[in-house]
Amino acid sequence: EEEFPKVYSYTIEDLAKIPKRNPYSNKGTYGKILVIAGSKNMSGAAYFSAKAAYRMGVGLVRIVTPEENRQIIQSLLPEAIVTTYQKKQLDGDWLMDAINWASVIVIGPGMGGSEEAHYLLSKVLSISEVPLVIDADAINILAKEPGLLQHNKQNIILTPHIGEMSRLTDKPISEIAENIIEVAERFAKEKKLTCVLKDARTIVTEGNRGTYVNTSGNDGMATGGTGDVLTGVIAGLLGQGLSVVEAARLGVYIHGLAGDAAAAKKGAYGLLADDVCEAINDVVK
Ligand code: AMP
Ligand code: MG
Repeated sequence: EEEFPKVYSYTIEDLAKIPKRNPYSNKGTYGKILVIAGSKNMSGAAYFSAKAAYRMGVGLVRIVTPEENRQIIQSLLPEAIVTTYQKKQLDGDWLMDAINWASVIVIGPGMGGSEEAHYLLSKVLSISEVPLVIDADAINILAKEPGLLQHNKQNIILTPHIGEMSRLTDKPISEIAENIIEVAERFAKEKKLTCVLKDARTIVTEGNRGTYVNTSGNDGMATGGTGDVLTGVIAGLLGQGLSVVEAARLGVYIHGLAGDAAAAKKGAYGLLADDVCEAINDVVK
């Protein structure tokens, strides 16, 4: 087992951990990412997560989202496979098929707190055996129903920002912000998962080994959609075979570097999530 100091960060040399491409590969080689995201008035979250996974090098991305989002997603990202559901119509084999198809699942960005969202999350948590990246509205659902998070899995990544962590733990935001490392470590240990606690300095921890503190990124990333981009970057690395905790650390680091590359090009002021997404390639290149 690797030895970790108590707290550590990554530097540019750590980008060597990005999985190599194989000249004899095909699109099946680099992971099948299922992105369960978006709701009626939130199509962008699914788009950012899915696009970031493709930019991170995965072979196939499939989006599960409400029917209302089909056209917009298909025109924004024709590379994605789109599976839609309608209100109150979640029965049938399609969800099992989608879950069984995936080698990695992202759930939550822009998903809302509807009955349908709740159903999708409980199905994924009970059936799926692949690595899971749980974000945003899926975290808010877990905050209301902690029982859903009882699991025997070893492959869950939760990516709350401080506000979401406050809902999860019933602690005030200020208390979390002031003890961000300890809060993340305790939560990861208790819930047996990898916690990515997002802030200007994001923390990644499994609770009982060394804790990663991210140093890349900038205040231009304080804008809607950048968290959705992060889910796709982490999922992309998982799809290419990195372990859960390595994908979380390296994903957070690359995401911040992409924000820095985008800011170097356009300035941090007025940066868009899409700019961060487009800059993933600059980092990987
Ligand atoms: P979310 O709040 O879910 O949209 O996620 C925002 C993302 O942007 C997280 O990955 C944060 O770490 C990152 N971010 C937001 N503000 C800053 C900042 N001031 N400096 C560095 N990263 C930031
Ligand atoms: Mg978010």
